[in-house]
Amino acid sequence: MVVVSESLVDKINRLRKEKNAVILAHYYQRGEIQDIADYIGDSLELAKKAQNTDADMIVFCGVRFMAETAKILNPDKKVLHPNPESGCPMADMATVERVSKLKQQYPDAVVVSYINTNADVKTVSDIIVTSRNAVKVVKSLDAKRIIFVPDQFLGGYIAKQVPEKEFILWKGFCPPHFNLSKEALLELKRKYPDAKIAVHPECNTDTVEIADFVGSTTQIIEFATTCDSDVVIIGTEVGIEHTLKKKNPNKKYVFPQAADYCGAVHCCDMKKNTLDKVAQVLEEEINEVILPEEVIEKARIPLERMLELS
Ligand code: SF4
Repeated sequence: MVVVSESLVDKINRLRKEKNAVILAHYYQRGEIQDIADYIGDSLELAKKAQNTDADMIVFCGVRFMAETAKILNPDKKVLHPNPESGCPMADMATVERVSKLKQQYPDAVVVSYINTNADVKTVSDIIVTSRNAVKVVKSLDAKRIIFVPDQFLGGYIAKQVPEKEFILWKGFCPPHFNLSKEALLELKRKYPDAKIAVHPECNTDTVEIADFVGSTTQIIEFATTCDSDVVIIGTEVGIEHTLKKKNPNKKYVFPQAADYCGAVHCCDMKKNTLDKVAQVLEEEINEVILPEEVIEKARIPLERMLELS
């Protein structure tokens, strides 16, 4: 008798059905993970999906703070993270102790934290934002003084759109986006003079200033696939190429080289989740996200404030 072994994708499909699991994946995940996901999205979309799912189990293919966010919004569900070593270097740049200290120093300020923060930092935040809703949320706040954590470049970008408020910016940054230089984009613009440039606000200020379009990952995808230019120079993580090509294969998407060892804007942490690991966590139910009850309760408040506003 010939035994035909089950393919990895078949195994994942069987297990997700048996266990009533949903697989959520960020746009920066490997293409093969995006292909098997039930939902692909940016941080805001995935937070909403996590909040509304009927599944008993969530397999979150993203970095650690994203899996934590899914757990905070679904404390009664089992949330599994395929690779717990997949963290976000920018999120790790902010600590709960130092944010609390800053809060004491400026008691009239509101702490606005980017969703890219660890769960404990969310517990001392007044409201959470994503790159898509940050300007809208900050404008809606009564406070005149904002402590923005942890991305100094997204914070600086918001500060320009909301000049009526005073900003105290945490000095964190996203290494892959920070490494994208304006020169790299201009070089491509010389090669493709009719191309439009779309960048993420996590890029450094010089880079953002020369862009035709600045927006969140989803907004960049919408812009790039629908704008009137046949070539679009993309200033964000290369993982989105997978979705761009699927959404509109008739355009050319050009990704610049960054000044670091990874080549183009490439988040090594986002790529630590693999199909093997997705199958393994589904089968063995390992790598469950566990957070103290107190952290879940406190961190949920600023997250829900954001979700109500957006
Ligand atoms: S791309 Fe930047 S912000 Fe996003 S997970 Fe990687 S290091 Fe963190």
